[in-house]
Amino acid sequence: MEKTHPIRELMDKESLTCLSVSHDWRSGRICWRASYEWDDSISWADYQKTFTIESCLAASPRYFGHATVLEMFGSNGSEDVRKEIEELLKAGRHQGIDFFREPSFDITFMNNMHSNILGIRNGMHAIRAGGIRRHPLADPEMEVIVDGLNLARAMSFKNGAAEIPFGGCKCTVHSDEISMGDMERLGFLAYCLDRSRFFTGPDMGFPPELADVFHEHFTANITGGKKGPLGPTGTPTAYGVYLAIKAAAEFRYGDPHLREKKVLIQGLGAVGYPLAELLIKKERCPLIVSDVDEAVIQRLKQDFPEADVTEVDPGVVLDTPADIFAPCAMGGIISDEEIPRLKYDIIFGSANNVLAAHSQEEEIALAKRLAERDILYQVEWVHNIAGVMAGYEEYMHGEEADRGRLYAHIERVCGEGVRENLREAERLGITPTEYAYRKIEKRIYPDLTPSS
Ligand code: NAD
Repeated sequence: MEKTHPIRELMDKESLTCLSVSHDWRSGRICWRASYEWDDSISWADYQKTFTIESCLAASPRYFGHATVLEMFGSNGSEDVRKEIEELLKAGRHQGIDFFREPSFDITFMNNMHSNILGIRNGMHAIRAGGIRRHPLADPEMEVIVDGLNLARAMSFKNGAAEIPFGGCKCTVHSDEISMGDMERLGFLAYCLDRSRFFTGPDMGFPPELADVFHEHFTANITGGKKGPLGPTGTPTAYGVYLAIKAAAEFRYGDPHLREKKVLIQGLGAVGYPLAELLIKKERCPLIVSDVDEAVIQRLKQDFPEADVTEVDPGVVLDTPADIFAPCAMGGIISDEEIPRLKYDIIFGSANNVLAAHSQEEEIALAKRLAERDILYQVEWVHNIAGVMAGYEEYMHGEEADRGRLYAHIERVCGEGVRENLREAERLGITPTEYAYRKIEKRIYPDLTPSS
């Protein structure tokens, strides 16, 4: 029978707390390491009080090198899993993954690292930036790994497009729901976050309060809390997506006004709801909305009784025609299979990794298929990046973070930046997705050939 949680099984069987794989995309070298670094008597709530990331937390720590870890995969019948992870790292040109495990909580913390190139010389503790997302334990582990790696790759490009000096990563936490009062589990997550050298912000599966609790008790390497100077990132992200939709409409229809345009929004969460608000208040355009949570749709209708809002079942979103489709829920929703039946002029939303692709090449190929169907689309990391900009503003300036400076940054990148991306792609006769990759990839994958 296929194992659904092979890494968890291997780490628990071999009593490993840490498992790492590093990949050098230039040479193709892969290196595995593993260790036992903490005893089960550790009180994680005491992180930063009685111990730090440098402390020794095991009476008898153990460390294992590449060959031994390969043997562990072999003797656990998980060779295929190891190879699959290695293939994913190669396809996405990722730096690696660190797995941290606390078996007593049944939590696996995965630090999916794509690149540190933009951040390695930034002089901060954090050299990468990316959100922290939770997947329920019922999700198969490989799905969690694939999601984390895809999101990490997108983060490198997002940070490049947002012009911020951090590499890209994404943290995925595979666990049951974690209460914001559970200081043991939260202490463990904060310890793993600090060891991973990135700064983060709460993503799906975690509330904004995570950032507030972390700040108060454990670490400054998180932004976007309710008590933070700029608040949660959903609202600025929605503003960036809104500006990008208007730029796309101007490009497509010669007019940025959306009054006559039907916009379909999938997901009315932290980003989708304020996006709907902006479209209603500023554009008065008809909306079609869909959410698995009926209550948020009712809330929108109650908040805006005059607005033209219709509702569609989540199962038929991709069969519902509209002028503009704004996916604002999960990613991976558009593959070769769906493209022939889509009836939209424009697809611009906030959801990360909208196209079901595992590499830049696959993503560019799918974007081309959309262009062949005359659908205007650009990879979302060009415009769903205002949350990252807000995180950067808060991380660098703390309580001095400035909303005016942030919104000017958003308008430059998500307004003018998007117009430039669409214009230049058209001039070169390529898709906006391909142009965006060409523009940023030189910085993410620089030619490091030593000078002679
Ligand atoms: P969220 O969890 O607050 O909202 C998601 C919404 O989608 C929820 O209301 C949920 O009920 C709904 N949903 C889930 N499955 C659905 C389905 N099958 N059909 C319709 N609705 C469904 O998340 P969010 O923060 O709003 O993020 C939405 C997307 O935007 C995610 O892909 C996220 O990674 C991305 N994103 C978010 C931010 C941010 O700042 N929050 C920034 C950049 C990108």
